[in-house]
Amino acid sequence: DASLLLEARASRLGSRYVLLIADDHTESLRLEEVRRDFIANISHELKTPIASVGLLAEALEMAADEPLQVRRFARRLGEESARLARITQDIIDLSRLQAKDALATPELLRVDDLVAAAIDQNRVVAEAREVGLAVRNKSRAEVWGDETLLVTAIDNLVSNAINYSLPGTRVGVGVRSDAGVVEITVTDQGVGIPEEDLERVFERFFRVDEARARNTGGTGLGLSIVKHAVQNHGGDVRVWSQAGRGSTFTIRLPEAESSSTASGKESR
Ligand code: ADP
Repeated sequence: DASLLLEARASRLGSRYVLLIADDHTESLRLEEVRRDFIANISHELKTPIASVGLLAEALEMAADEPLQVRRFARRLGEESARLARITQDIIDLSRLQAKDALATPELLRVDDLVAAAIDQNRVVAEAREVGLAVRNKSRAEVWGDETLLVTAIDNLVSNAINYSLPGTRVGVGVRSDAGVVEITVTDQGVGIPEEDLERVFERFFRVDEARARNTGGTGLGLSIVKHAVQNHGGDVRVWSQAGRGSTFTIRLPEAESSSTASGKESR
């Protein structure tokens, strides 16, 4: 085992090194445990939709002469495959975040462009759920980073805000920058999060209400993707929420220094 070999070699170099490597070893054991948990969770999450797809295909075959049934099963089949696609995309996003080169070539990005892209991806769902969607503030702030990861992070917050809102309410997205920090806030007037769960919502696969989250198509990975994406960019994400009243999620990122001098930059 490579780490034992290293330890043996290090013990010849002196105790300081042995200590260092022992620490490293503990860390790698911890990471291994995290990885095992993650894979166990993924398998669990994938099994249900995969089994459903199989059962629905069988049901479709048997109901071939009953158009109404066929339509019903076909719709369910579509829903399950959409769910599989979402879980797969989340897993891809998370593994991209774990790849060391995710931010190898950061680009200078306009934050209002990132927000506009995330909003665009949510317009149809917002309309279907009768939730108003509005960008409240404009800012010309820029950040260094990976466009796909940052749009995904904002998109996840906006899509959660819509999913956990009630019809007829509004979701607001704001951007502002101050003292070298860019803040993107996503506010909803939805179901909110009970205080005892606030700490846990950024954990992988954590859901406040399992049944509700499943109905809204949640994978339980969205907020953990947000957290990792903004941390990779040297930022953080916070939540304020009251059960029954709504939630506000705030992403904070370091502002790119050229922001104030980039007035000539084209927006996409
Ligand atoms: P999911 O895919 O289930 O939405 P997330 O990681 O995005 O997973 O969120 C974890 C849990 O946090 C959700 O299942 C939900 O219970 C809660 N949550 C996230 N965003 C909101 C919000 N805007 N309002 C209320 N609850 C939320």
